Amino acid sequence: MDGDRIKATVARQKAAVAERRLRFGLEERKGALAHLRQTIERRERDIVEALRRDFGKPEPEVILTEILPVLQEIRHTMRHLKRWMRERRVAPTLATLGTSARIRPEPRGVCLIIAPWNYPFNLALGPLVSALAAGNSAVVKPSEMTPATSQVIADIIEETFPPDLVAVVQGGREVSQQLLDQPFDHIFFTGSPEVGRIVMAAAARHLSSVTLELGGKSPTIVGPGADLGKAARWIAFGKFVNAGQTCIAPDHVFVHRSIEVQFAEALRAAIRHAYGADARTSRDYARIVNAHHAERLHGLLQDATDKGARISLGGEAEGTYLAPTLIEAITPQMNIDREEIFGPVLPIMAYDGLDEVIDRINARPKPLALYVFEKDAAFAEEIVARTSSGGVGVNLTTMHYTHAGLPFGGVNNSGIGAAHGHFGFQAFSHDKPILKERWSAVPMLFPPYRPRVERLIRM
Ligand code: NAD
Repeated sequence: MDGDRIKATVARQKAAVAERRLRFGLEERKGALAHLRQTIERRERDIVEALRRDFGKPEPEVILTEILPVLQEIRHTMRHLKRWMRERRVAPTLATLGTSARIRPEPRGVCLIIAPWNYPFNLALGPLVSALAAGNSAVVKPSEMTPATSQVIADIIEETFPPDLVAVVQGGREVSQQLLDQPFDHIFFTGSPEVGRIVMAAAARHLSSVTLELGGKSPTIVGPGADLGKAARWIAFGKFVNAGQTCIAPDHVFVHRSIEVQFAEALRAAIRHAYGADARTSRDYARIVNAHHAERLHGLLQDATDKGARISLGGEAEGTYLAPTLIEAITPQMNIDREEIFGPVLPIMAYDGLDEVIDRINARPKPLALYVFEKDAAFAEEIVARTSSGGVGVNLTTMHYTHAGLPFGGVNNSGIGAAHGHFGFQAFSHDKPILKERWSAVPMLFPPYRPRVERLIRM
């Protein structure tokens, strides 16, 4: 889509805002969400096939991590929307006695949703559910890296909504920047911290509000008292689902030196159990999204092994296949220790005391997720209290994403604002205070001030 058509699409949505404020109430919003649900259910095979074409994503993973989360978001939103939309009464303060106060969540207006490639369906349509629930129109820009899925998203939206309510604009960086030139009321961006900065700078030109769902290196700590079998299974799942291309995947693991050997063995067993001796032949193991990212991951492994790291499992690569890989003897000089890995490579680092782990975490940008495995609750609590992260999982990985009642988001480098359920609704709403006069005594204090105000001051 060229610049003029982008401008026209946004202008059409802007022109419809005033009228939509009057006619896009609870029933209309629920109707829009129900319609979206029907189209997704009808198009399920196309979604599965598109994700297989884009990066060999296994069907059960498409169902579990792309389609079900969006359907669950719709179900939860439809169930609670009436309550979320309701005006909230606020009790008067002393100075506002004789007034009535309410807070009305109002739609922000025209919103831009920019999605990444790693969960391309879920992360484009999940935020759209919240945008519609809050009464907005939206332009959705899916990722150019997953063209088959982006086309299915465009088809679904076109079949379901008029373009003055929801439009899809396909394209890469250039198109994204043309969109960012437009005066959106809110921008909901999911992607890397680097591009997040570009989005926030662009939003500043129009003072558009932003929600930034970013990434980073999410640490995992395995304590001396952890249930090793359980820890290994959760970590293997969180790391190797979607071939490690998950924003909340455990990026690297700190394991207490006393259990280092047993943990590594349990992890190897968990990986073998999930994907067999050769993951290449597993139907449940995805591929790297493209040759560029496969090369990037080979580069990280090469740099690490050149500098003395040791691959203790995996490492085999062919085209966009990269085996589940464990790597040890990591040092801060290695790129793998600095960059978000975003692939099926898991560094394991032994530690002696908790302070060294906490100091390391606190010396880095705040992560999107942090995981702790330990039976002793005080151990986990100490880490949670002494670190900052977007979210925390204790004795599990990634599942906090799926809890509809929890806010999902990062903090500073890993994000600004939150998504999901009521938090997603709030991200796309402006809380408008409305104060109504009933029998306020304040007019007695209007000018001329003397002598009444003087008397009040002396009281
Ligand atoms: P990305 O930042 O490269 O791209 C995201 C989107 O921004 C794409 O639609 C892309 O077209 C657009 N874009 C890219 N460069 C741009 C530019 N210069 N100007 C304007 N738009 C631009 O991210 P990605 O590679 O698609 O996704 C991976 C990243 O996303 C990782 O860092 C991951 O941790 C993060 N992520 C975060 C979440 C979350 O919910 N917090 C979820 C998934 C992925």
